Amino acid sequence: MIPFIDLTRQHAALRAELLAAAARVLDSSQFILGAEGKALESELAALCGVRHAIGVASGTDALRLALAALGVRPGDEVITPALSFVASATTIVMAGATPVFVDVDPRTYALDVAAAARAITSRTRAIVPVHLYGHPAPMDRVMELARAHRLAVIEDAAQAVGGAWGDRPIGAWGDAACLSFYPTKNLGACGDAGMVVTDRDDVAAGIRRLRHHGDTGRYQHVELGYCSRLDEMQAALLRVKLERLAAWTEARRRIAARYRAALAGVALGLPFEAPEARHVYHLFTVRHPQREALAKTLTDRGVGTAVYYPCTVPDQPVFGGGEGRWPEARRAVREVLSLPCFAELSDDEVETVAATVRNVCERL
Ligand SMILES: *Cc1c(COP(=O)(O)O)cnc(C)c1O
Repeated sequence: MIPFIDLTRQHAALRAELLAAAARVLDSSQFILGAEGKALESELAALCGVRHAIGVASGTDALRLALAALGVRPGDEVITPALSFVASATTIVMAGATPVFVDVDPRTYALDVAAAARAITSRTRAIVPVHLYGHPAPMDRVMELARAHRLAVIEDAAQAVGGAWGDRPIGAWGDAACLSFYPTKNLGACGDAGMVVTDRDDVAAGIRRLRHHGDTGRYQHVELGYCSRLDEMQAALLRVKLERLAAWTEARRRIAARYRAALAGVALGLPFEAPEARHVYHLFTVRHPQREALAKTLTDRGVGTAVYYPCTVPDQPVFGGGEGRWPEARRAVREVLSLPCFAELSDDEVETVAATVRNVCERL
């Protein structure tokens, strides 16, 4: 059986270092807003090419706090793609605003910039592009559109840490970008954690207040804030893993290249990588019109797969569905299938997955 993902391999390899990091935090007994979190913040700010990084409790909270810090309020509209994890849009509702869903580019699965332009109204306040599967959204065009209409841009970079679009890292394009350290992400904590990265002093100060009860420092609570910090234990564990992130990303890119070579000529949609993109392959997502049959046969033959996502965001019950719009997003949710793609996958396993997929596709 080749698993879709196996975190135990990563943790077995790093066990001694992770335990030493955990012991360091236990011995210091400083658990909230201490030296580990500060160090992790400067390391990630450097990686993303910005001046500020603010650790928070999850990727979801990163989005929620970034929207609030950028002034998204009740009555505002925020444009976001119809294909994503649900938190890209639920956080807009948490900020009191209305998500306006736009269709995606069928090659990259990022929001369609022309559709975003058509969705702008006098109430539009911000755009939340998503770097889905680790492929960056076309940030030069997103920023051009946003600047022309004075909109804030909050990148949902939960799946794309370490990626780049053009000459800039993911995280350095928008007014703020949100990272998730959910355990299965490219940089995963041993629990929940997230971060906002930004080059703007005002946004950074706002998020520092919001994550800690609206406090400016000495029990001066100037606004309604939250309790959403990235704790020292997670920060220390994440710093051990961050040292490996570049090598892990290279490993993911090598696996993707192997899949591409081994699956060339198979009747199967392979992931697109735009010339401007550095794709970090959080997921290696193929598409096939008979996705269910393909997934079932692969499972029967011992290859783990997963569907991200089986439903568009506006079609989720919480959003109540729409009236026949977002055709590309709706087609994608019927056709996409992600293959195993994580750094500890062996070359033999990658070859076996590819050979099995080729074999099954030839018989479908
Ligand atoms: C994982 C993820 C989130 C939420 O991050 P959490 O850390 O799980 O809260 C948001 N958006 C996208 C696209 C994600 O993949």
